[in-house]
Amino acid sequence: MSDAIIIDGKAFSARVREQVAEEVAALKASHGLTPGLAVVLVGEDPASEVYVRNKGEQTTAAGMYSETHRLAADVTEAELFGLLDQLNSDPAIHGILVQFPVPPHLSQDRIVARISPDKDVDGLTVTNAGRLASGLPALTSCTPVGCMMLLRDALGDLTGKHAVVIGRSNLMGKPMAQLLLAADCTVTIAHSRSVDLPAICRTADILVAAVGRAEMVKGDWIKPGAAVIDVGITRLPSRDPERAAQGKTRLVGDVAFDEAVKVAGWITPVPGGVGPMTIACLLQNTLTAARRLHGIG
Ligand code: NAP
Repeated sequence: MSDAIIIDGKAFSARVREQVAEEVAALKASHGLTPGLAVVLVGEDPASEVYVRNKGEQTTAAGMYSETHRLAADVTEAELFGLLDQLNSDPAIHGILVQFPVPPHLSQDRIVARISPDKDVDGLTVTNAGRLASGLPALTSCTPVGCMMLLRDALGDLTGKHAVVIGRSNLMGKPMAQLLLAADCTVTIAHSRSVDLPAICRTADILVAAVGRAEMVKGDWIKPGAAVIDVGITRLPSRDPERAAQGKTRLVGDVAFDEAVKVAGWITPVPGGVGPMTIACLLQNTLTAARRLHGIG
């Protein structure tokens, strides 16, 4: 059996960003409207800093307005809520994203609840999660939307396929399962309490791993010919001991790629698979939010 087709998320996401940029230009020309995204970063987590910088750069590159708010790690909830209230009512801002995790004195749930559902481009509010589950138009978490785009591009119609999603977070596993269900898949959600995970995974035509455990999914967990979407990102020391000693790292997914590529029909690599889709879908969500807030079809 030949190796799996490698799904190139980097190339696909570049096409999505181009498409968004074209639609932003058209929206500006037809309605004088520039979609705006505000990103809020609390504290100084280096990985979050990189994500936030990338988001800002790619938002501007797509022709949108970008604003980044950096708050001190000891910011009070009242101060943070003051900023969110201001962004909720700012007509130049159509998308608000708070970069998680936040320091432990702040509650993620309370922060999410403070964001206007109309500007909730991460799809985390109860309103958007409920709308997704009810089959109503919603702003939906960016990474699962990106995974669906890659799956549809690779497989076409997903009707009737058995999809197994490992992970049940509000950001990833649950919206992923809802989107697969909406695409007429038969969906199984697995998690840390699932019994005999390898056997569950072996039944999947589509396997989405969103756990955060390096190379947990082995080659013999995969049904031959299945589509494997690896969402997990873990940073491990470089394989080269000298580079590792210098603090150099490598990114690893939830799937043991070298084994899985020999069994799967399609597979996303890490890096270069799902990761680049997330920001592209964030831009798309911001465009969608701007259109909806202005009642533009
Ligand atoms: P999370 O909130 O920590 O959720 C992890 C999920 O994995 C939980 O539902 C947990 O089950 C499950 N799990 C943990 N250990 C397990 C095990 N041994 N067997 C089966 N399930 C297990 O993480 P998340 O936010 O969903 O993110 C998941 C991964 O995706 C992380 O590596 C994250 O960095 C990555 N991610 C990547 C992108 C991207 O842009 N590529 C975006 C978002 C997330 P319980 O619910 O039972 O605890």
